[in-house]
Amino acid sequence: MTPAPVPPVPVPAPDSVPVSVPHNGPLVTEDDIAAVTEALRSGWLATGPRTAALEAAFAERFHPLHASAVSSGTAGLTLALRGAGLGDNGATVAVPTYGCSALLDAVLVAGCTPLVVDVTERTLGIDPGRLDPAHPIDAVIAVHTHGHPADLDALRPKTALLVEDCCQSLGGRDERGRPLGAIGDASVFSFYATKVIAAGEGGMLLQRDPAARDHVRGYQDPGAREVYAPRFNHRLSDPAAALALSQFRRLDEIAAHRRAVAARYTAALPPHVAPPPGLAPGQVPYRYCLRAAGRAQQQRWIGHLRAAGIAADPLIPARHLLHRQLGLEPREYPVAERVVDSTVSVPLFAALTEEQADRVAEALTGLPD
Ligand SMILES: *Cc1c(COP(=O)(O)O)cnc(C)c1O
Repeated sequence: MTPAPVPPVPVPAPDSVPVSVPHNGPLVTEDDIAAVTEALRSGWLATGPRTAALEAAFAERFHPLHASAVSSGTAGLTLALRGAGLGDNGATVAVPTYGCSALLDAVLVAGCTPLVVDVTERTLGIDPGRLDPAHPIDAVIAVHTHGHPADLDALRPKTALLVEDCCQSLGGRDERGRPLGAIGDASVFSFYATKVIAAGEGGMLLQRDPAARDHVRGYQDPGAREVYAPRFNHRLSDPAAALALSQFRRLDEIAAHRRAVAARYTAALPPHVAPPPGLAPGQVPYRYCLRAAGRAQQQRWIGHLRAAGIAADPLIPARHLLHRQLGLEPREYPVAERVVDSTVSVPLFAALTEEQADRVAEALTGLPD
């Protein structure tokens, strides 16, 4: 029996208009299929030589950091904290409120205390100006949101441990040309189905300190525990590692495609629409997010794009902002509260074809006021 085709990532479709350009979708090439097939034929399904090869590839690109493959980005963030000895002691970890709930999960599962901070209008990363010097923090998880580099230089003096969340920024560089993921003390990547590299699930943790790396070994693989203590299993399987490695080898190509599509969109914008504020040379755009003047314009733009069969998306609803998830006062987070009501994310993904990009560009040109 022929297996059913794998459906694309589901997108919230408008009522009646068929969506022909989805919001996301992975690109699986013949090379990827051959790499996974080879892993399956080898009979080695558990963590093994392909996982080690993936770690080696990251360690080479991000020299001198040490690489540990893990089961997800969330697992990597948890272990970034644990590796620095921050587990189970209520250490304060600052996270941006405009982010995915994985940030809260990682901090709380590690036994730390989240300090949720508003973001900057431009990068959507944590706003260093909102970190009160009177309130000591043990770690910052700086997210390079949508691929835009967070302000690491301003964050550095405010924290003992600087963790870069690179789940949306693999392959990018900051304004000074430094590779994102090679600047902080630790950095974390995700290989979830919608990320820059899509292996279904998976992640990578990079750490500068070899002792911190050794410390997470027993967490990464419970079989490596020296002394028994209850732990999750954070291992990556070899078929997933084979897929991630095959895509990692194409990273420069994937990055060039994303940059070209973003440039094509920017060139198509009418004069009354500004390009995404955080976009800058060097980065790998993960999302292409226009910023409307407010909710009414956001809805008009989304309506216009969806009527053209394009799955434009507001991304994070206000209720998913991390401060709201913790029941904190929305007025304390004015930037993030404004951003959710103005964001219009336009399809930008590895499998996006030339024709689809043209179609999106054409619709962008016609954006209403
Ligand atoms: C996807 C993502 C994560 C979590 O990664 P998983 O692999 O899904 O656990 C964490 N942070 C950011 C910014 C992400 O985009």
